[in-house]
Amino acid sequence: MNKVLLSIVLIISSILLSNLVLYGIRRKKVPGAFAFSILLIGMILHSLGYVFELLSNTVERMYFWIKIEYIGVAFYPFLIMLFASEYTDERKLANKYVLRLLITVNIVTLFLVNTNSYHWLYYASVSIDSSLGFNALKLEKEIWYYIQVATLCFSNLYSIVFFTMKWKRSKGDYRKRVLFMLVGVTIPMVVFIVYILGLGPAYIDLLPFSYIFMSFLIGVGIFRQDILFLTPITHEMIFNAVDEAILVTDRKGMMISFNQSSKQFFPSLENIRAGESIYLIKELIAYDFELNQENYEIDDKIYRFKIIEMKNNRGRIYVVTDITESEQAKKQLEILATTDTLTGIYNRRYFMDKFEKSVTGGVFAIIDIDKFKMINDRFGHVEGDKVLRYFGNELKACFREHMVCRYGGEEFAIFIQDDDLDKAFTKLDAFRERIAANEHGIRFTFSVGMARYEIGHISSTIVEADKKLYEAKENGRNQIRY
Ligand code: GH3
Ligand code: MG
Ligand code: MG
Repeated sequence: MNKVLLSIVLIISSILLSNLVLYGIRRKKVPGAFAFSILLIGMILHSLGYVFELLSNTVERMYFWIKIEYIGVAFYPFLIMLFASEYTDERKLANKYVLRLLITVNIVTLFLVNTNSYHWLYYASVSIDSSLGFNALKLEKEIWYYIQVATLCFSNLYSIVFFTMKWKRSKGDYRKRVLFMLVGVTIPMVVFIVYILGLGPAYIDLLPFSYIFMSFLIGVGIFRQDILFLTPITHEMIFNAVDEAILVTDRKGMMISFNQSSKQFFPSLENIRAGESIYLIKELIAYDFELNQENYEIDDKIYRFKIIEMKNNRGRIYVVTDITESEQAKKQLEILATTDTLTGIYNRRYFMDKFEKSVTGGVFAIIDIDKFKMINDRFGHVEGDKVLRYFGNELKACFREHMVCRYGGEEFAIFIQDDDLDKAFTKLDAFRERIAANEHGIRFTFSVGMARYEIGHISSTIVEADKKLYEAKENGRNQIRY
């Protein structure tokens, strides 16, 4: 076997792995990406150290490179467990005590490898073997080597078990991705078994050669959604810069991606990861998006949902806009357009609009405050305004089921549906007496002109009511005429 060839393979593999590290760090928000990048750095140290080990000829040189390799490989058990736990979101077995124990064993390993010649607890002997046609290091293992191997087996098994469980639980595109990762994390275990059973070439460490396959599979698993949906970085920037919440799901409703703004819309997204169902978003639990409704009131907010179906039924994009402010402004405008600002009751335009659309006849009345000019003259305009406001509120309160408005100036109007003139008179006259007897504030009276309204005869009704009002004024005020 040619050790130069083996070295070249490992160098190329390390370069590819370095690229993957950069890729992973740039996407460190993807679950597992950061731990995966650290794991890759460990693999690179192992691979490159091994290249120099292969290219060295003396025991001392080779052992020096072993020490470098162990900076990476010693932490392999800890890192693979951290990565698997982060990605599968399994924290029960991979709790902080187990992780601490693993890293402690791994640190001790690094220490013992570096000080082996003083205690021989890691390797019982270190010598050279030339049976392959070149010098290879022949290492006889001691107790701590087996302890380190035990942690490696444990974390490898852990990742295989939990990736299998995650794979069984997931659906759709995500399931395929988890399968890639499962195969990826199984490779070192297979290599290790080959090595233990003595099926591989003696004194050659196969593990560095498996890293490239393993990393490729895991990389595809982790970043597949990026590859499919958001390859250029600019897309990601736009994705995160917009104010709208954007959520991307696969066809089964499993989350593929969501932008930064989404978390402000739906805080429970903080705990939801790619691959989990969109229906886990607590804020949305009560809503049915199949209704094709546009606006949803969620808490105190009004959200507009736009649902975009992806081609070939691949999934959906939800674009959510917060329209609370514009809806409130709309309501405000509506209020401004329909009400009189001084009294808060309907204005003439809105009243007339409704009056014209009435499907029944009734009684229309114009109410005019008597000698209002005098009130203004005696008490001032501000007090005059108070009287108008007071009167408007009383009128509205007293004729709750009828339509009233400020008709203009100190004039008001009322439309009493269905009633005939006599009935309307009784009601209005009781009101007139009550106002005239007002003990509080400025005393005043009003006069009313009433007319019967038949559908379609608006103007003649108004003319008639006006005429009757005039009569009431002429006749001494404080009275109702019809
Ligand atoms: P009459 O009994 O004949 O109806 O006498 P009047 O004084 O009420 O009638 P006139 O139409 O001569 O005067 C109405 C007054 O109402 C004139 C105007 O200054 C006053 N006015 C109109 N709009 C307002 C308002 O918004 N606030 C106040 N304070 N006064 C108003
Ligand atoms: Mg008037
Ligand atoms: Mg008046």
